[in-house]
Amino acid sequence: MNPSNADLHCHSTVSDGLLAPAALIERAQANGIDLLALTDHDEISGLDEALQAAAAVGLRCVTGVEISVSWGDDQTAHIVGLNFDHRHPALVAGLARVRSGRDARAGRMSDELAKVGIDGAYGGALKYAGNPALISRSHFARYIVERGFAPDVKTVFDYWLAKGKPGYVSHPWAELHEALGWIHAAGGVAVIAHPGRYRLTSVERRQLFVAFKELGGQGIEVISGAQNESEMREFAAIAREFGFLASRASDFHGPGESHVDLGHLVALPHDLKPVWEGWQ
Ligand code: AMP
Ligand code: MN
Ligand code: MN
Ligand code: MN
Repeated sequence: MNPSNADLHCHSTVSDGLLAPAALIERAQANGIDLLALTDHDEISGLDEALQAAAAVGLRCVTGVEISVSWGDDQTAHIVGLNFDHRHPALVAGLARVRSGRDARAGRMSDELAKVGIDGAYGGALKYAGNPALISRSHFARYIVERGFAPDVKTVFDYWLAKGKPGYVSHPWAELHEALGWIHAAGGVAVIAHPGRYRLTSVERRQLFVAFKELGGQGIEVISGAQNESEMREFAAIAREFGFLASRASDFHGPGESHVDLGHLVALPHDLKPVWEGWQ
């Protein structure tokens, strides 16, 4: 496969995106994407709609998911799985378990936010999420913006939702080996999402790459909407050193909420092996 505009990371209303899967496919097509993966957080129930909508307009689309993983000392890392069998029982059951904690966590976040004067946050976030199993910090952020406490979601994270802020509640997600195990059992490729986004020291970041590689992890997002050019160079060097496949990923959540639109990404460095090489 040799796409000229691949985008292998984005979100729909099935997690914390703003567009339904079919609307996302429409936008991807309009933006000139020729290979897309929908990668909702811990959830694959949007994939059938995306695959059908993509087939209807002749857009190549592979299955995807972004799994929340607990890492190190109360850190969270995200592992993207690509091009797997989305009916595989181990993957389906594993993701259901990861999602099962979200509702209780949301209740605790709401309690913490109430203590700093933001009331009604659970109900407010649920209104945006639609489904208690999918409530994320993004949905809380939209509610807090709606209430007029902050002008945009980024500000909400800076004041209330980032680690160490009053509405942050630590949570046990999947273990790294579990996430990779589910992706590999379902025949997919695992990719470290936006490695530049984690608040890790360079030593800790390297430990993540080593552990990921030891578990059979193959890919890294060299190009990400959440990373700048110097991070791109840094992770291109990591891909060369570790022999990782390179991915290209907007992490688009919706118009007005993302830095980078679907497919509006620079090209991968030419010497790197793209994650889609070898896909039919
Ligand atoms: P959760 O899975 O509930 O912890 O929510 C994580 C989601 O929050 C991420 O996938 C992003 O969509 C969003 N997010 C995290 N940090 C920020 C930030 N600083 N600004 C805007 N959105 C963020
Ligand atoms: Mn998100
Ligand atoms: Mn992520
Ligand atoms: Mn994402």
